Amino acid sequence: MSHTEQLDDGEGTPVSVKIRERLKAARHRFHSNDNIAEFIQPGELELLLDEVTAKMQGVLDAMVIDTANDHNTEDTARRVAKMYLREVFAGRYVKGPTVTEFPNAEHLNELMIVGPITVRSACSHHFCPVIGKIWIGVMPNEHTNVIGLSKYARLAEWIMGRPQIQEEAVVQLADLIQEKTQPDGLAIVMEASHYCMAWRGVKDMDSKMINSVMRGVFLKDANLRREFLSLIPRKA
Ligand SMILES: [Zn+2]
Repeated sequence: MSHTEQLDDGEGTPVSVKIRERLKAARHRFHSNDNIAEFIQPGELELLLDEVTAKMQGVLDAMVIDTANDHNTEDTARRVAKMYLREVFAGRYVKGPTVTEFPNAEHLNELMIVGPITVRSACSHHFCPVIGKIWIGVMPNEHTNVIGLSKYARLAEWIMGRPQIQEEAVVQLADLIQEKTQPDGLAIVMEASHYCMAWRGVKDMDSKMINSVMRGVFLKDANLRREFLSLIPRKA
Protein backbone atom coordinates (compact mmCIF):
# COMPACT_ATOMS: atom_id res chain seq x y z
CA MET A 1 0.00 0.00 0.00
CA SER A 2 1.46 3.40 -0.94
CA HIS A 3 1.67 6.30 1.44
CA THR A 4 -1.00 8.24 -0.46
CA GLU A 5 -3.47 5.35 -0.26
CA GLN A 6 -2.90 5.12 3.47
CA LEU A 7 -3.67 8.81 3.83
CA ASP A 8 -6.83 8.38 1.81
CA ASP A 9 -7.86 5.45 3.94
CA GLY A 10 -7.26 7.42 7.11
CA GLU A 11 -9.23 10.45 6.07
CA GLY A 12 -11.90 8.99 3.86
CA THR A 13 -14.14 5.99 3.99
CA PRO A 14 -14.65 4.39 7.40
CA VAL A 15 -13.30 0.85 7.55
CA SER A 16 -16.75 -0.55 8.39
CA VAL A 17 -18.03 0.83 5.08
CA LYS A 18 -15.21 -0.83 3.15
CA ILE A 19 -15.87 -4.17 4.81
CA ARG A 20 -19.59 -3.81 4.19
CA GLU A 21 -18.96 -3.09 0.50
CA ARG A 22 -16.88 -6.25 0.14
CA LEU A 23 -19.65 -8.25 1.80
CA LYS A 24 -22.26 -6.77 -0.52
CA ALA A 25 -20.12 -7.38 -3.60
CA ALA A 26 -19.77 -11.03 -2.59
CA ARG A 27 -23.49 -11.21 -1.70
CA HIS A 28 -22.49 -12.49 1.70
CA ARG A 29 -25.00 -12.07 4.52
CA PHE A 30 -23.81 -10.00 7.49
CA HIS A 31 -26.50 -10.41 10.10
CA SER A 32 -25.42 -10.12 13.73
CA ASN A 33 -24.79 -13.86 14.03
CA ASP A 34 -22.81 -14.22 10.79
CA ASN A 35 -19.03 -14.54 10.74
CA ILE A 36 -17.36 -11.95 8.49
CA ALA A 37 -13.68 -12.73 9.18
CA GLU A 38 -12.79 -13.49 5.56
CA PHE A 39 -13.81 -9.96 4.54
CA ILE A 40 -11.55 -8.22 7.05
CA GLN A 41 -8.01 -7.51 5.91
CA PRO A 42 -4.95 -7.54 8.18
CA GLY A 43 -4.86 -4.44 10.37
CA GLU A 44 -8.50 -3.53 9.79
CA LEU A 45 -9.72 -4.94 13.09
CA GLU A 46 -7.62 -2.28 14.84
CA LEU A 47 -9.23 0.44 12.73
CA LEU A 48 -12.64 -1.06 13.44
CA LEU A 49 -11.84 -0.85 17.15
CA ASP A 50 -11.13 2.89 16.79
CA GLU A 51 -14.33 3.36 14.83
CA VAL A 52 -16.52 1.51 17.37
CA THR A 53 -14.82 3.43 20.22
CA ALA A 54 -15.73 6.75 18.59
CA LYS A 55 -19.34 5.66 18.00
CA MET A 56 -19.61 4.31 21.56
CA GLN A 57 -18.34 7.65 22.85
CA GLY A 58 -21.18 9.20 20.85
CA VAL A 59 -23.66 6.97 22.69
CA LEU A 60 -22.27 8.04 26.06
CA ASP A 61 -22.41 11.70 24.99
CA ALA A 62 -26.01 11.26 23.85
CA MET A 63 -26.81 9.73 27.23
CA VAL A 64 -25.51 12.96 28.78
CA ILE A 65 -22.71 11.29 30.73
CA ASP A 66 -19.80 13.57 31.54
CA THR A 67 -17.03 11.20 30.50
CA ALA A 68 -14.50 14.07 30.57
CA ASN A 69 -14.88 14.53 34.33
CA ASP A 70 -16.28 11.19 35.48
CA HIS A 71 -13.22 8.99 36.03
CA ASN A 72 -15.43 5.87 36.02
CA THR A 73 -16.63 6.36 32.45
CA GLU A 74 -13.53 8.05 31.06
CA ASP A 75 -12.43 4.92 29.15
CA THR A 76 -15.75 3.16 28.93
CA ALA A 77 -16.15 3.73 25.18
CA ARG A 78 -12.85 1.98 24.46
CA ARG A 79 -13.52 -0.78 27.00
CA VAL A 80 -16.92 -1.55 25.50
CA ALA A 81 -15.54 -1.50 21.96
CA LYS A 82 -12.78 -3.95 22.96
CA MET A 83 -15.24 -6.15 24.79
CA TYR A 84 -17.51 -6.34 21.74
CA LEU A 85 -14.88 -6.85 19.05
CA ARG A 86 -12.28 -8.93 20.88
CA GLU A 87 -14.23 -10.79 23.53
CA VAL A 88 -17.97 -11.33 23.59
CA PHE A 89 -18.56 -10.93 19.85
CA ALA A 90 -15.19 -12.15 18.60
CA GLY A 91 -17.02 -15.04 16.91
CA ARG A 92 -18.07 -12.57 14.20
CA TYR A 93 -14.60 -11.23 13.49
CA VAL A 94 -12.17 -14.12 13.80
CA LYS A 95 -11.88 -17.24 11.68
CA GLY A 96 -13.21 -20.48 13.13
CA PRO A 97 -11.02 -22.62 15.36
CA THR A 98 -8.88 -25.17 13.54
CA VAL A 99 -10.24 -28.56 14.31
CA THR A 100 -8.28 -31.65 13.37
CA GLU A 101 -10.55 -34.45 12.29
CA PHE A 102 -9.40 -38.04 12.58
CA PRO A 103 -10.90 -41.03 10.86
CA ASN A 104 -13.01 -43.20 13.13
CA ALA A 105 -10.34 -45.91 13.45
CA GLU A 106 -12.08 -47.67 16.33
CA HIS A 107 -15.31 -47.84 14.31
CA LEU A 108 -17.22 -46.29 17.17
CA ASN A 109 -20.92 -46.63 16.62
CA GLU A 110 -22.36 -45.98 20.06
CA LEU A 111 -24.19 -42.88 21.15
CA MET A 112 -21.70 -40.33 22.44
CA ILE A 113 -22.72 -37.38 24.59
CA VAL A 114 -20.64 -34.27 25.17
CA GLY A 115 -21.64 -31.80 27.86
CA PRO A 116 -22.63 -29.85 29.65
CA ILE A 117 -20.60 -27.20 27.87
CA THR A 118 -21.06 -23.72 29.33
CA VAL A 119 -22.00 -21.21 26.67
CA ARG A 120 -21.95 -17.44 26.83
CA SER A 121 -23.63 -15.27 24.28
CA ALA A 122 -25.83 -12.20 24.03
CA CYS A 123 -29.25 -11.76 22.47
CA SER A 124 -29.25 -9.79 19.29
CA HIS A 125 -32.43 -7.96 20.39
CA HIS A 126 -30.99 -6.23 23.45
CA PHE A 127 -27.29 -7.20 23.55
CA CYS A 128 -27.98 -8.66 27.00
CA PRO A 129 -26.10 -11.77 28.13
CA VAL A 130 -27.42 -15.22 27.38
CA ILE A 131 -25.68 -17.79 29.58
CA GLY A 132 -26.36 -21.46 29.70
CA LYS A 133 -25.33 -24.97 28.83
CA ILE A 134 -25.45 -27.26 25.86
CA TRP A 135 -25.32 -31.00 25.43
CA ILE A 136 -24.33 -32.60 22.16
CA GLY A 137 -25.25 -36.12 21.15
CA VAL A 138 -23.38 -37.75 18.28
CA MET A 139 -24.26 -41.03 16.62
CA PRO A 140 -21.15 -41.95 14.64
CA ASN A 141 -20.74 -44.42 11.80
CA GLU A 142 -17.52 -45.88 10.41
CA HIS A 143 -17.06 -42.85 8.10
CA THR A 144 -17.64 -40.26 10.81
CA ASN A 145 -14.66 -38.08 11.66
CA VAL A 146 -13.64 -37.99 15.28
CA ILE A 147 -12.77 -34.69 16.93
CA GLY A 148 -11.39 -34.13 20.43
CA LEU A 149 -13.90 -33.42 23.18
CA SER A 150 -12.50 -29.95 23.87
CA LYS A 151 -13.04 -29.05 20.20
CA TYR A 152 -16.80 -29.15 20.64
CA ALA A 153 -16.41 -26.43 23.24
CA ARG A 154 -14.21 -24.36 20.90
CA LEU A 155 -16.74 -24.63 18.08
CA ALA A 156 -19.58 -23.70 20.46
CA GLU A 157 -17.62 -20.71 21.74
CA TRP A 158 -17.09 -19.45 18.19
CA ILE A 159 -20.77 -19.73 17.29
CA MET A 160 -22.00 -18.26 20.59
CA GLY A 161 -19.53 -15.35 20.48
CA ARG A 162 -21.92 -13.29 18.36
CA PRO A 163 -25.15 -11.45 19.06
CA GLN A 164 -27.39 -14.50 18.79
CA ILE A 165 -30.90 -15.84 18.77
CA GLN A 166 -30.93 -19.12 20.69
CA GLU A 167 -32.90 -21.05 18.05
CA GLU A 168 -30.54 -19.90 15.30
CA ALA A 169 -27.41 -20.50 17.41
CA VAL A 170 -28.15 -24.20 17.90
CA VAL A 171 -28.86 -24.63 14.18
CA GLN A 172 -25.57 -22.90 13.28
CA LEU A 173 -23.69 -25.12 15.72
CA ALA A 174 -25.41 -28.25 14.39
CA ASP A 175 -24.51 -27.30 10.80
CA LEU A 176 -20.88 -26.78 11.79
CA ILE A 177 -20.52 -30.06 13.70
CA GLN A 178 -22.36 -31.90 10.94
CA GLU A 179 -19.93 -30.50 8.36
CA LYS A 180 -16.83 -31.35 10.43
CA THR A 181 -17.78 -34.86 11.54
CA GLN A 182 -20.49 -36.26 9.19
CA PRO A 183 -22.25 -38.41 11.79
CA ASP A 184 -25.37 -40.55 11.23
CA GLY A 185 -27.14 -38.45 13.78
CA LEU A 186 -26.63 -35.27 15.74
CA ALA A 187 -28.61 -33.84 18.63
CA ILE A 188 -28.08 -30.59 20.48
CA VAL A 189 -29.96 -29.29 23.50
CA MET A 190 -29.38 -25.79 24.81
CA GLU A 191 -30.72 -24.41 28.07
CA ALA A 192 -29.99 -20.79 28.83
CA SER A 193 -30.94 -17.81 30.94
CA HIS A 194 -31.69 -14.68 28.99
CA TYR A 195 -30.72 -11.64 31.00
CA CYS A 196 -33.02 -9.43 28.97
CA MET A 197 -35.78 -11.28 30.84
CA ALA A 198 -34.15 -10.82 34.25
CA TRP A 199 -32.65 -7.34 34.08
CA ARG A 200 -35.46 -5.65 32.14
CA GLY A 201 -38.82 -6.61 30.62
CA VAL A 202 -40.75 -9.04 32.82
CA LYS A 203 -37.86 -9.17 35.34
CA ASP A 204 -38.31 -12.90 35.71
CA MET A 205 -35.13 -14.13 37.36
CA ASP A 206 -35.66 -17.84 36.91
CA SER A 207 -37.00 -18.44 33.43
CA LYS A 208 -34.84 -20.47 31.11
CA MET A 209 -35.23 -21.17 27.48
CA ILE A 210 -34.64 -24.68 26.26
CA ASN A 211 -34.45 -25.74 22.67
CA SER A 212 -33.05 -28.54 20.62
CA VAL A 213 -32.11 -29.68 17.14
CA MET A 214 -32.26 -33.29 16.05
CA ARG A 215 -30.66 -34.52 12.86
CA GLY A 216 -30.43 -37.85 11.05
CA VAL A 217 -31.13 -40.94 13.15
CA PHE A 218 -32.19 -38.78 16.11
CA LEU A 219 -35.11 -37.63 13.98
CA LYS A 220 -36.08 -41.09 12.78
CA ASP A 221 -35.47 -43.11 15.94
CA ALA A 222 -37.66 -42.13 18.90
CA ASN A 223 -35.86 -44.57 21.20
CA LEU A 224 -32.48 -43.05 20.46
CA ARG A 225 -33.92 -39.59 21.04
CA ARG A 226 -35.34 -40.73 24.38
CA GLU A 227 -32.04 -42.34 25.34
CA PHE A 228 -30.15 -39.12 24.61
CA LEU A 229 -32.62 -36.95 26.52
CA SER A 230 -32.65 -39.34 29.49
CA LEU A 231 -28.85 -39.25 29.72
CA ILE A 232 -28.67 -35.49 29.96
CA PRO A 233 -28.43 -34.65 33.65
CA ARG A 234 -30.52 -31.51 33.41
CA LYS A 235 -31.89 -29.93 36.53
CA ALA A 236 -35.02 -28.01 35.72
ZN1 LIG B 1 -33.20 -9.94 24.46
